[in-house]
Amino acid sequence: MSSNHNLNGIGMTSQRTRERLLGRLIDQGISSLEVLDVMRSTPRHIFLDEALSHRAYEDVALPIGHNQTISQPYIVARMTEAIVTSGPLETVLEIGTGCGYQTAIIAQLAKKVYTVERIKPLLNRAKANIRTLRLRNTDFKHDDGSLGWEQKAPFDAIITTAAPQEIPNELLHQLNPGGGRLVIPVGGDDRQELKLVTRNGDHFSESFLDAVRFVPLLIGQLQH
Ligand code: SAH
Repeated sequence: MSSNHNLNGIGMTSQRTRERLLGRLIDQGISSLEVLDVMRSTPRHIFLDEALSHRAYEDVALPIGHNQTISQPYIVARMTEAIVTSGPLETVLEIGTGCGYQTAIIAQLAKKVYTVERIKPLLNRAKANIRTLRLRNTDFKHDDGSLGWEQKAPFDAIITTAAPQEIPNELLHQLNPGGGRLVIPVGGDDRQELKLVTRNGDHFSESFLDAVRFVPLLIGQLQH
C-alpha cells in the first residue's frame, strides 16, 4: 500500500501536521465545531498524487492534473460552514467534484450529496477516494454541472467549486424554496467574489463571504 493511502498519515502527513492546519483555520475565523471536527479527521493527503502528499496540510490549493486543483482547506471550511450554520442540510449538490475533497467533507455533514464533474478521469478518482473513506451517501454524475441536477432537486444547499461569470439560473431554481442556500464564486479569472444566496419562495437574497480565486466553471464541454 502506498504511503498516501495510509489513512493515518506519517511524517509530513501526521496528526501533528494536521493540527497545525486546524490552528490556521481557527485563526482565520472558522468556528463551527462540526466543521472543524470533520476537517481534522479527513485525511487530505489521500486526494493528492504521492509526489505532492507531503504538502497536503498546507493551507493552499494544489494541482490534481487536467489543469485543475484541489481547493484550499480554508476555502473548503468556509464554504462548508456557510451551508452548515444557515439551515437544515439533508440534500446537497456540489458542482465541480475534482478529486472529491470537498465532497468528502460535506458527505460527513449532510444526509445525501450529489456531485457533478465534467472531467471523467477526475470523477473516477473522486469515486475511488470516497470509497477509500467508506462514505456511502454520495451520488456522482459525469456532466456539465452548470445545469445543476434537475432530477434530484430541490437541494437544501448547492456548492459550486468553479467560478462562472454570472450565477446560472438553473442553480437558483434547484434550491429548496424554503431557505435553500447557494455558495458560489462569481467573476473573472484573477479575482472572484464568494457569494451566499438564500432562496425564500421567489425571493433570493445575496451576501458576500470572501474574495477568492477558483478555476472557471466551463459551460457545455464534457471531457472524456
Ligand atoms: N471540489 C474540488 C475542487 C475541484 S476544482 C475540491 O474539493 O478540491 C473545480 C472542478 O470543477 C474541476 O475539477 C473542474 O473540472 C470542474 N468543473 C468546471 N466546470 C464544470 C462544469 N461546468 N461542470 C462540472 N464540473 C466543472
